[in-house]
Amino acid sequence: MSRVYNFSAGPAMLPESVLQQAQQDLLNWHDSGMSVMEMSHRSKMFIDIATQAEQDLRQLLNIPDNYKVLFLQGGASAQFAMVPLNLFGQKTVANYCQTGLWSKKAIAEAKRYGQVNIVTSSDAENYTCIPDVSTWTIDPNAAYFHYTPNETIGGVEFSFIPECGDMPLVADMSSTLLSRPLDVSKFGIIYAGAQKNIGPAGLTIVIIRDDLIGHAADNVPGLYHYKTWSDSHSMYNTPPTYSWYVAGLVFKWLLDQGGLRKMAEINQRKAEKLYRLIDHSDFYHNPVNKADRSWMNVPFTLADSAQDKAFLEGAKQAGLETLKGHRSVGGMRASIYNAMPEAGVDALIDYMTDFAQSRA
Ligand SMILES: *Cc1c(COP(=O)(O)O)cnc(C)c1O
Repeated sequence: MSRVYNFSAGPAMLPESVLQQAQQDLLNWHDSGMSVMEMSHRSKMFIDIATQAEQDLRQLLNIPDNYKVLFLQGGASAQFAMVPLNLFGQKTVANYCQTGLWSKKAIAEAKRYGQVNIVTSSDAENYTCIPDVSTWTIDPNAAYFHYTPNETIGGVEFSFIPECGDMPLVADMSSTLLSRPLDVSKFGIIYAGAQKNIGPAGLTIVIIRDDLIGHAADNVPGLYHYKTWSDSHSMYNTPPTYSWYVAGLVFKWLLDQGGLRKMAEINQRKAEKLYRLIDHSDFYHNPVNKADRSWMNVPFTLADSAQDKAFLEGAKQAGLETLKGHRSVGGMRASIYNAMPEAGVDALIDYMTDFAQSRA
């Protein structure tokens, strides 16, 4: 079996050269006589790997010096709790945008710790758009403003960074971080589970402005204080060493590709050609408002859902895997993160074109 084009939303494809490097290092990393998996996280070898990874991520995103980068576990879902536990402070309300199933989950978790002001919700539109800013209601006294720049399930993306004045802007960037350049200085906290666009599962990246560290209440578990991780350089306890190492290989790969400006160019081109096919066809449909469409996750339905099974079977035979849509949306979803080669998107487009012609 040769490698397939895997359109999984996450864990998702990794660059082939990264996997080859990991394979080459697997038994014996840099003549150390051991695998990265077998190294003490306190060893100089691993600390060098960890430090280099952070340095490369800082370079890719141009992260200012007053931001810490944390390499954590618990997934983006743990951040749904960590953000309110660390940022509420003396305040009682937090602003949240409700634009899809992931922001809904973040909201449900935040409600355990305080009040949530729903700035805007596209629930009535079935999460197919970002409502116009003129309709938003931001609570100016809230502790922070949380949003989900890319809703992985609905395939809806903010094409702008919200303005919320002085309050910290918090973003769940699980499925979009590293897809393009980003002005980190606009944010208080950026977090992302690694398994979409960064590396293997088990690692969560948090980029946090340093004045937001140290405000969790005493009775919050130590593992949920940002300060615990900031003080220990993400090594309060054993970090997800192997995922951290592979993420580091991905950062090097991104730098070799020409950085995030180059990735943005490729990602935009990949997404545009797929949407173009969908929009020019009577057979495929994407429900998302055009201005709010995701570059990373492209959901689509077939005109006749009775053909879904045949579509997926044929795709599998063509080496195109994991195209089944999320159960809440139905239809198909193609996740086309950084590691999905443009040739993979071209192969999908060819397959979709042939399938539509044969069924029309
Ligand atoms: C996948 C995803 C999550 C959940 O991530 P875990 O790491 O599994 O907790 C949260 N938010 C978004 C936007 C996601 O895509």
